[in-house]
Amino acid sequence: MLNNNLYTLVILLFIGCHSKAQKPIVTNEFAIQKTKDEWKTKLTDQEYYILREAGTERAFSGEYNKFYKKGTYSCKACNTPLFKSDHKFDSGTGWPSFDTNIKGNIGYSTDNNLRQTRSEIHCNTCGGHLGHVFNDGPKETTGKRYCVNSLSLTFKTK
Ligand SMILES: [Zn+2]
Repeated sequence: MLNNNLYTLVILLFIGCHSKAQKPIVTNEFAIQKTKDEWKTKLTDQEYYILREAGTERAFSGEYNKFYKKGTYSCKACNTPLFKSDHKFDSGTGWPSFDTNIKGNIGYSTDNNLRQTRSEIHCNTCGGHLGHVFNDGPKETTGKRYCVNSLSLTFKTK
């Protein structure tokens, strides 16, 4: 009986701790792993805030918001190709928006920030946070809107 109660208490403590904490990006499952200091030397403060702390840049502030050159968008942190310019559309939201991605290179998780459940998207190679995916994209293609921070991306022309 005592053992059972103790067991229950341990479980409750475990659940209690984890439900309060903001869900961190799990980093040990990615091919590229760096320490906080290593990322800080590679990324600017703003890039670190977005990619490693799941921040969001101000709407309409990003360099790729109104940007329609032909080419490929890759992860700013590790150069993995993520989106093609053919996937991009003007959503009017103030962030670069894509209706699909380069298959296999993006991972998904759920976050409950802002008191709503959203699908978080990140680079599958380094775990860098990219933005979120919503279901209000163009109906004539995928219906998806990948809403991405410009600061998470780097662009190369074809
Ligand atoms: Zn990456």
